[in-house]
Amino acid sequence: MSLQDPFGRKIDYLRLSITDRCDFRCVYCMAEEMSFLPRAQVLSLEECETLVRAFVGLGVSKVRLTGGEPLIRKDAHNLVGRLKAIPGLEQLLLTTNGSHLAKYAQALKDGGLDRINISLDTLNPERFKRLSRTGNLQQVLDGIEQAQRLGFERIKLNAVILKQRNADEISSLVAFALERGLDIAFIEAMPLGEIDDHGRTEQFISSEDIRRELEQHWALKPSQYQTGGPARYWQIGDSQVGFISPHSDNFCSSCNRVRVTAEGRLLLCLGNEDSVDLKAIMRRHPGDQQRLQAAIVDAIGRKPERHHFDLDNTQILRFMNATGG
Ligand code: SAM
Ligand code: SF4
Repeated sequence: MSLQDPFGRKIDYLRLSITDRCDFRCVYCMAEEMSFLPRAQVLSLEECETLVRAFVGLGVSKVRLTGGEPLIRKDAHNLVGRLKAIPGLEQLLLTTNGSHLAKYAQALKDGGLDRINISLDTLNPERFKRLSRTGNLQQVLDGIEQAQRLGFERIKLNAVILKQRNADEISSLVAFALERGLDIAFIEAMPLGEIDDHGRTEQFISSEDIRRELEQHWALKPSQYQTGGPARYWQIGDSQVGFISPHSDNFCSSCNRVRVTAEGRLLLCLGNEDSVDLKAIMRRHPGDQQRLQAAIVDAIGRKPERHHFDLDNTQILRFMNATGG
């Protein structure tokens, strides 16, 4: 079985948001005041597992748990073990802000988690607090250290750069990654949700600008490294430095993924609102895997060709934390 969309793209990657809640309020991701889903509307552990089984049965081989902050869900590490046991699931990955990673890294390792991405936008503790509104840099650094100590490989840092906030740290972040043998990817900020902290356009900095900055310090070698995602990689030393460039280098033609939100809506594209309520199907017809899979196949038949992000005009009202970034 395999899932193919109307543009001939094979869909083999699911990003599953297991909570829309977060202990941070990163300025590019959320507004200061947020409301979150009532718990009854969030997928249960069993529903997450049922969904992943349905997708894997349709040829999906890679699943990333994300959020919100996945590790503030106390049963996240139990979910890892349950999902890892699903035959056909080749890669189980996690994206985290790192704040609870030191505490859970061992349980995640024991559960069989394959790889971790950790968000890190600055190495300055005060700035970290300002950018995340609530976060503590040291906890994240401890999380990175613990994950490395336990032998997680190819840990990747994710950084969102804002022109007047942390653009002066581009090289320091790469140096930090190089010193520790980590990979790093820079993500161009996307206009998801109405944020109240800054204008998206005025703070925008392109992947090209970041690359030019890095070229002042290092020789960047084009790299064939691929993770099956939209990042284009360059090599510096032993580290892969990736750029995810939804604005300056559209990657939609090679899109291989869909997302499921914490409330169980299948989102066909990050930049489009169309979604299908898979939770409603699971709750109305418990145990009916065929019906669930038919709904997924039907939805993939409507996957849009591409996003049309416009930094000056936020058309997508759901925030990144609700999207499953
Ligand atoms: N809380 C976890 C974290 O921060 O890693 C996982 C969810 S978070 C939404 C996933 C990634 O999306 C993070 O690396 C974050 O920096 C990025 N992100 C959040 N809002 C974004 C936006 N508007 N544009 C681009 N990336 C964004
Ligand atoms: Fe939370 Fe991640 Fe969004 Fe930051 S980027 S507010 S850590 S969900």
